[in-house]
Formats: sequence, C-alpha cells, structure tokens
Amino acid sequence: MKHLHSGKVRDLYETDEGLLLMVASDRLSAFDYVLEPEIPDKGAILTQLSLWWFEQLKDIVPNHLAGTAPDARSMVCRPLRMVPVECVARGYLAGGGLAEYRRDGAVSGVRLPQGLEDGSRLPEPVFTPSTKAPLGEHDEPISFDEVVARVGEETAEELRRITLAVYARGAEIARERGIILADTKIELGWDSNGVLTLGDEVLTPDSSRFWPLDEWEPGHAQPSFDKQYVRNWLTSPESGWDKSSGEAPPPLPDEVVERTRRRYVEAYERLTGHSFTG
Ligand code: ATP
Ligand code: MG
Repeated sequence: MKHLHSGKVRDLYETDEGLLLMVASDRLSAFDYVLEPEIPDKGAILTQLSLWWFEQLKDIVPNHLAGTAPDARSMVCRPLRMVPVECVARGYLAGGGLAEYRRDGAVSGVRLPQGLEDGSRLPEPVFTPSTKAPLGEHDEPISFDEVVARVGEETAEELRRITLAVYARGAEIARERGIILADTKIELGWDSNGVLTLGDEVLTPDSSRFWPLDEWEPGHAQPSFDKQYVRNWLTSPESGWDKSSGEAPPPLPDEVVERTRRRYVEAYERLTGHSFTG
C-alpha cells in the first residue's frame, strides 16, 4: 500500500483498489506534543466510536465508509475531494471560541450575548468555520461570508446545515448518556458524484470536546472527558515538567496511562451502550 500522509495521530494509505485506509494509532497528543508511551487500544476505540456515529448520522449525511477494514483501528474509505473549510459547531464556549468571544464578542463573525464565560452554554448552537491550516499552523476562524467566497453560497449553506444537524444529533445522544458535547469539528468532501459526504473521523474525543454533564460548571475550564488525567499530571509538580520550557514532556507513568485508557473505554461504552472488548 502507498503511504499518503501521517498526522499527529493517524496514518493514511492508498489501497490497490484506489480506496483509502485510515489507521488510528494509539498516540495521544496534549499541549501540541505527542506523548510517550502510547495509550493501549486508543486507536481502536476511536475508530469503533466513529463507525458507530457514522451509523447514527447516516440519515443526516452520507459517509465515506467503504468495505471492511483489516483490523479494529482502521477504516476503509472512499477518497473524497475535501472541502477547504473546517466545519465546526459549538453549543458551548471554550478553547479558541472563548478566546475569540473575549476579543470580539463574536465567534467566526457570529455575534453572541454579553456576559458569557468559559464553559457557558450558547443560546443556540452556532456554525463557526475555520480555515484548514497547512501542517504545523493553527486553523484560523473565518466568517460565513468567507466560506461563501471559498465554496459558493449553496455549498456554504449545505455545510452549515449538515454541521449543525450532526452537532444536534450528537449532542442529544451524548446528553442522554450524561455527556455534554461542547463542540465538534467535522470534515466534508465531495464524492465522485459530487455529493457532499462526511469524511475523516466523527464525534470522537479527538475531534470534539466532551464534558461530564454532572461536573459542568461555567466560569472555569471544564474537565475534559478523556485527557484530564494526562493534563493534570503534566501540569502537576509530580511530572517535573515546565510547560513553558519548550521541552518535550516526560513519559507518562503507568497509572496515568491506565486511567486515561479507562476513560476512553468509558466514553465509548457510555456513548454507544456497547462494551469494548478490544
Ligand atoms: P492532525 O490531525 O495531526 O492535526 P492532520 O489533520 O493532517 O493532522 P490526520 O487527521 O491524521 O492528520 O489526517 C487525515 C487527513 O485525511 C486529513 O487531511 C483529512 O482531511 C483527510 N481525509 C479524511 N477522510 C478523507 C477522505 N475520505 N478522502 C480524502 N481525504 C480524507
Ligand atoms: Mg486531522
């Protein structure tokens, strides 16, 4: 198979039939570093979670799945011509959206009410697209009009409609399971018939913010469902790591690896209602 691309977490190959094989590794990134050691089963958990979501979303948008993968961490997909926009929906304020709101009172050009804080629920979910930055650069928020300028009005409206519908379905299902879907990023592309199709991974902890519903409390950073143990440990005196030093973090202790693994398993099991058998 031809190797096409390696991101921080996933590797992409082209199969002999001209399909794509997307392989999710067990690598975990935090604070923009890929950490050591890996989290056992993480790749398989995220791939299985994506597959489950694709099924839940198939009435909303067709997806790129094609055929059977060789193992639990991989997906065989139809190659799409990717839309040059990152499609983000936010129902709560956090991360880059919060920073923009504090600066401009708006997110991706969408004006928001005053007085919102870190973790606040928005009056209604908003489409907050961003550019697809080249490797090593950060995505920049763009307004809806800038999406129209890139892909035309009809496609821009389709992107917004699909993104908000995916968010709404995802948030509804997650909430029933005690999890807040604060925001999510999806990637859409055109298939060979020109049909807008959902690609990449979907509604995973790597593409979304999941928060435990019972711990939600606006006014400070919310505990992240998956990476909180890792972040807490890295920023605690115990790790001996200085985030601002520019040096790579130290290896994670076994206990942090195991707790993090359990958190991924729990996210999968709570959302899907299936047990993770590995
Ligand atoms: P990182 O996620 O580490 O920031 P990245 O986005 O470049 O980096 P991956 O997410 O591992 O790395 O790469 C997946 C790539 O494959 C993305 O560029 C995504 O747009 C693309 N992709 C996903 N599904 C398809 C598809 N069906 N057809 C074509 N490209 C796809
Ligand atoms: Mg990516």
